[in-house]
Amino acid sequence: MFEDARQFKEAFVDKLQTMQGVALEQATNLDKYMALGGVIRDYIYKNWVETNNHYRKKESKQVYYFSLEFLLGRQLRSNLLNANLSVVEEALQELNIDLSKVEEMEPDAGLGNGGLGRLAACFLDSLASLQLPGHGCGIRYKYGHFEQKIVNGYQVELPDNWLKEGNVWEVRRGDKAVMVKFGGQVRLEEIDGKLVPIHENYDPVLAVPYDTPVVGFKNNTINTLRLWNAESGIKEFDFPSFNHGDYMKAVQYKYETEAISQVLYPDDSHQEGQVLRLKQEYFLVSAGVQSILRSYKKGNKSIRELPEQVVIHLNDTHPVLAIPELMRILMDEEGFGWDEAWEITQNTMSYTNHTTLAEALEKWPVDIFKELLPRIYMIVEEINKRFCRELWERYPGQWDRIAQMAIIADGFVKMAHLAIVGSYSVNGVARIHTEILKKQEMKNFYKYYPQKFNNKTNGITHRRWLLQANPKLADLITNSIGTSWIKHPEDLKELRFYAQDASFKEELQKIKRENKEQLAQLIQEQNQVQVEVDSIFDVQIKRLHAYKRQLLNALHILHLYNKLREAPQMEFVPRTFIFGAKAAPSYYHAKWVIKLINSIADKVNNDKSIQGKLKVVFLENYRVSLAEKIIPAADVSEQISTASKEASGTGNMKLMMNGAITIGTLDGANIEILEQVGSENIFTFGLTEQQVIEYYAHGGYNSWEIYHQDEQVRAILDQLVNGFLGDGSKEFKTIYNYLLHNNDEYFVLKDFASYANAQQELERAYRDQNRWREMSAINIANSGGFSSDRTISEYATGIWKVEPLEILGRSR
Ligand SMILES: *Cc1c(COP(=O)(O)O)cnc(C)c1O
Repeated sequence: MFEDARQFKEAFVDKLQTMQGVALEQATNLDKYMALGGVIRDYIYKNWVETNNHYRKKESKQVYYFSLEFLLGRQLRSNLLNANLSVVEEALQELNIDLSKVEEMEPDAGLGNGGLGRLAACFLDSLASLQLPGHGCGIRYKYGHFEQKIVNGYQVELPDNWLKEGNVWEVRRGDKAVMVKFGGQVRLEEIDGKLVPIHENYDPVLAVPYDTPVVGFKNNTINTLRLWNAESGIKEFDFPSFNHGDYMKAVQYKYETEAISQVLYPDDSHQEGQVLRLKQEYFLVSAGVQSILRSYKKGNKSIRELPEQVVIHLNDTHPVLAIPELMRILMDEEGFGWDEAWEITQNTMSYTNHTTLAEALEKWPVDIFKELLPRIYMIVEEINKRFCRELWERYPGQWDRIAQMAIIADGFVKMAHLAIVGSYSVNGVARIHTEILKKQEMKNFYKYYPQKFNNKTNGITHRRWLLQANPKLADLITNSIGTSWIKHPEDLKELRFYAQDASFKEELQKIKRENKEQLAQLIQEQNQVQVEVDSIFDVQIKRLHAYKRQLLNALHILHLYNKLREAPQMEFVPRTFIFGAKAAPSYYHAKWVIKLINSIADKVNNDKSIQGKLKVVFLENYRVSLAEKIIPAADVSEQISTASKEASGTGNMKLMMNGAITIGTLDGANIEILEQVGSENIFTFGLTEQQVIEYYAHGGYNSWEIYHQDEQVRAILDQLVNGFLGDGSKEFKTIYNYLLHNNDEYFVLKDFASYANAQQELERAYRDQNRWREMSAINIANSGGFSSDRTISEYATGIWKVEPLEILGRSR
């Protein structure tokens, strides 16, 4: 389509006129972004048609990745890269247009909270890039993850109106809408000697799909992300109560209906238990399953063959109602009996567990569930009854075990239990996490269904997180080992020979420094803080959560500050601590930690006596596009969760791939990173998972003891409450109480000394720059196995049984 830059320029200028109604000379950056998106979209759409035709013709097995979250970030540059439109940058240069300015006009698609949502986005990229027929299914939230502002050190939340200028990538498919039913009553009526459920007086909600193309890397495959929008569809449906011209009621109804896809719940690893959330979950799965079956039935295969043709993958328990929903459709609409419907359903669903944190495990009160989803509740009740009967046969008389495993118990529907019972595969997201599931959290389920459990260690797309985010490093790699790593990231291994190569290391150092200069400039613009480019850039970027222990990092900064104040001339490598983190709006502890970090920053950054050796920066509104700017500039990656708590982590992988050295606990995928790089190329510290679990089970930790024994810890904790940090004393008192009076449930003080020690070692290592660069190179060289291409190939062969399919492109 674009033979050369000239052709592209013509198409672009034409698009500016036809789409935005402006000439190039008058076009704003927003106009340019919209038109550029438009041209690229037109180009991509052609292969999209081609891909879909091919999937239809071949009747190949399709994967549908169901997720309440897709944290896509920006799509312009990633689409440019994957669609192989290298002429575009050249053409824009000729037009005197700065692509990086235009790019800033695109709002992040922030339809997710953190790791779980970003994983879904990386998976879509890998599915398409591996030519696998796999699609996303989610909700088109009108407001994505809130925008965070920091005001006087406190987090303030603003709505993220990401669709306000329209969305160039998506297409609305109004004619593919389906209806989802809430509330009402279900009665059983005998029809032809069969009991048939009749659902009455329900509230209908119209689910309208918006499709976004997912572009494979230079391979013509364009898969689909289908996001559902909730609408009232008042014209289409005839509601009894509106027949009397009850206008106010009709408007109210429209408002309540649209609320379903209005906003993403901003909780990460925490369930709020709001009815609206349960509505969102059922809305997504009902729309998703209905549309899958509708398109499936247009083909030639029978529904009995569904498990050979379709996999529905459940990203955590959030979309787990897909299980009873498929049962409902198979029985109530397709006329299957229970046993056959159950076999089809179980063999179609696979499930990923993302956490063992108790506060994150979803359970819904039976009365709420039943009232909102009466027919689905009947089915869940029956699944539970049959499952408990099976358990009784296997474990006669073992009431405790059966009660512990039941899907409905103590007045709650337990979503993880439903997920395990209703699917054929259950996977954890890092080796240690899967082992904890098997031996602790889901021990009884593992004993009952050992064959269902498996591990799939998470990954990240190296295309976005290295090729696109760090083009200079990508070029250095290619100049050293060739291009094969781009399609086969495990080939990054070849770089290990360059870890000893002086000129390679010099280049590596130069690139890191340039990236740090860019980030320093951003910090200057956003925070008005001047940071030393030659200081260690020490980065902790992730959701704010007690188990992730930003607090440990903050307390350690205070500790360094105390040492520096005492002896400003001591040997010390200047450090810049960089944070990015959003706290759930109702998570007070997390918000106090944000305030604490900002108060420490104020104090430290303005203390002339330490001669700028220590700087602390909290960058507001952490999101994918900001991560892309921070990660290439990081020297140190903070992965310091309480052992056993971080299921995998993926931020750790992104930073490693960009040459940062990890300081971390033996938790999640840190353990697999350690195995890859060797203990000389990572700094580990702290309690092990066994020790943590042992303390939880049998006690034996008292945080006061540490306060009394460790002078340095005592000094820091006292600074929280003696006015040392200026305003915010109420917040810091609460943190003080949390650590000492509530006995520090995440072992911050317990791990403090060990952490401070590891930090000292790290500083020592950094002084030997030659050695540090070698470590950095070894980290990059061993990061290929953390590409989501590896993860997705494992899902494809181990769980989904799907195969790549070559698509011959049209738009060449
Ligand atoms: C990768 C990523 C995360 C996950 O980070 P963890 O350190 O694994 O918790 C969260 N948010 C964004 C924006 C990300 O890109």
